[in-house]
Amino acid sequence: MTDSKPIAFKAEIKQLLDILIHSLYTDREIFLRELISNASDALTQMDFLMLTDRDVLDPDAALEIRLHVDEERKIITISDTGVGMARDELTTNLGTIAQSGARAFLDAAEEGVDQRRLADVIGQFGVGFYSVFMVAEWVRVTSRSFKPKAKAAAWYATGEDTFTVDVAEKENRGTIIEIKLKEDAEEFAHESRLRQIIKKHSDYVRFPIYVGDDKEQTNRQTAIWRQDPREVNEAEYNEFYKHLTLDFEDPLARVHFVADAPLRIFSLLYIPAKPERGIFSIRKEDGLKLYARKVLIQEYTTDLLPPCFRFVQGVVDSEDLPLNISRESIQTTALMARIKRILTGQINKQLRTLAEKEPDKYARFWSAFNPFIKEGIASQESDREELYPFVRFHTTVHPESWVSLQDYVERIKIGQDKIYYLLGDDERSVARSPHLDYFLKHGYEVITLTDPMDSFMLLGLREFGDYKLQNVAAPDLELPAAEVTSGEQPTPEALSPRELEKIIARFKWHLGERVTDVRTTDRLTDSVARLVDPEGTLGQEMQRVYRLVDREYEVPKKVLELNPRHPILTSLCALPPDDKLNIAIIEQIYESALLIEGLHPDPASMLPRIEALMEAALR
Ligand code: ADP
Ligand code: MG
Repeated sequence: MTDSKPIAFKAEIKQLLDILIHSLYTDREIFLRELISNASDALTQMDFLMLTDRDVLDPDAALEIRLHVDEERKIITISDTGVGMARDELTTNLGTIAQSGARAFLDAAEEGVDQRRLADVIGQFGVGFYSVFMVAEWVRVTSRSFKPKAKAAAWYATGEDTFTVDVAEKENRGTIIEIKLKEDAEEFAHESRLRQIIKKHSDYVRFPIYVGDDKEQTNRQTAIWRQDPREVNEAEYNEFYKHLTLDFEDPLARVHFVADAPLRIFSLLYIPAKPERGIFSIRKEDGLKLYARKVLIQEYTTDLLPPCFRFVQGVVDSEDLPLNISRESIQTTALMARIKRILTGQINKQLRTLAEKEPDKYARFWSAFNPFIKEGIASQESDREELYPFVRFHTTVHPESWVSLQDYVERIKIGQDKIYYLLGDDERSVARSPHLDYFLKHGYEVITLTDPMDSFMLLGLREFGDYKLQNVAAPDLELPAAEVTSGEQPTPEALSPRELEKIIARFKWHLGERVTDVRTTDRLTDSVARLVDPEGTLGQEMQRVYRLVDREYEVPKKVLELNPRHPILTSLCALPPDDKLNIAIIEQIYESALLIEGLHPDPASMLPRIEALMEAALR
């Protein structure tokens, strides 16, 4: 070494080193994964370069990674035959380049993110190299670029504020990293330990990795998705998933699909446990990683699954895709369409199996991803029927559990030819809805839809099998047959036509412009009144869709329908027209109906009137 001037690390890098050296003690083994990953990147670049240009240093050198341990001196060396770095590249790449990732990493550390996680994800911030200082007393990187005229150089640092770069001796192309282990990191000064780490974290690195004088490579090298599914175990699948996505949770499900004909395709797809990506995830965009013959073609490929499955993560690799496929042609080739069909079929099948064999897991899937499926049903032009089997909801008969459309039709009543549903804001108010009176009384199961996305979904779900879906709030609804139940209470006498006329007139007079009409209905049994839309339920459903997409939509004026057999109306009729209670009761009936529809703008405003009514009742 000559006496070259020390160069200061970029400020964020200094801070980063400080954290790595002084605060991170767990999971230190990942330093090896990071260095191997860098070596592998350098080899990949070399491989790619030599496709077109063989005028490089050592064109015939094997593309590989070798590790050696000097157990006595506690020094590990990692060497590769990749593109290498010239002197100025050493300076910029390892210390002076502004790293936005370093800033992000520091922020995460400041926020008190778990140490283990922090170390584990360092590579994703583009600062993986520095993780070596978790274990190193000093590090020397000696490198020689592939460019025939380049000279070798060496970079050296101890984790202090500066590093040095100098000319060096190195005959061959590539990089050698020497690491002098800290005293408390001597566990890594054993070949067996290194082999273990490689198997755990770097098994599918594309280039062979040799440890010591081994003749056989340590890593299996074959990408996990190219392996026979019978030879991959659960832990390996999960490890790969976490590596790919940086999710800390295991995935909910996976499909590993390998086929020879008609297409040669390897795919490994995962359904995450949650739709949200972790704060660390670099996979900020949707889409699958697409490889053609093991070469990464596109990081985020969204044309391989329908948009409603965009939460799926994974890798697709095909032998049939040409290597030089361009981004534009990716989208348009017939081959891609075929792959898409295969993958979509695989996910559909996986979800069906999950629903059938592991209902608990399926319930978790539904809770987490239902908005995607609902959106797919609403907006997907083709094949939306394929999504119908995935839908789950609560019903009046099973308010607690998840019911599928298939479950519903399997126990449908003889003679019932519609699937009944009711939209509302929450389960409790829906359960009390007057629109349900008739259906509850006669034992018809009604689907209760309380998720804002539901009305959106209904745009694309109008029938299932032979059954049309029918909103029970529709005023023009043809009622299904009444069930004659034994022990039924006698229905109270209805008001006479004259009395009804009188009472309707009073309602109209008091409510005025607030309703379009007041009329009687035979739909109600327990409830005294309900509000319906003058032109069917479409307005109501659209209004919910608009609320979802945050657009103004005029609430259509409603019709107030009265139950002519309800005791309140009978008593109201008997009340002298000039009694003050008249107004209070009519107002309260109307506002209660608004409330149950989720339309009351200010429920608390009802309190003074309710108190007045109580006083009157106690008089
Ligand atoms: P990243 O790999 O995300 O770019 P790192 O901190 O791991 O970030 O590495 C920093 C840079 O150092 C790399 O981008 C690369 O340019 C260079 N580098 C590190 N190791 C090697 C190597 N073995 N061969 C060639 N270049 C390397
Ligand atoms: Mg790296």
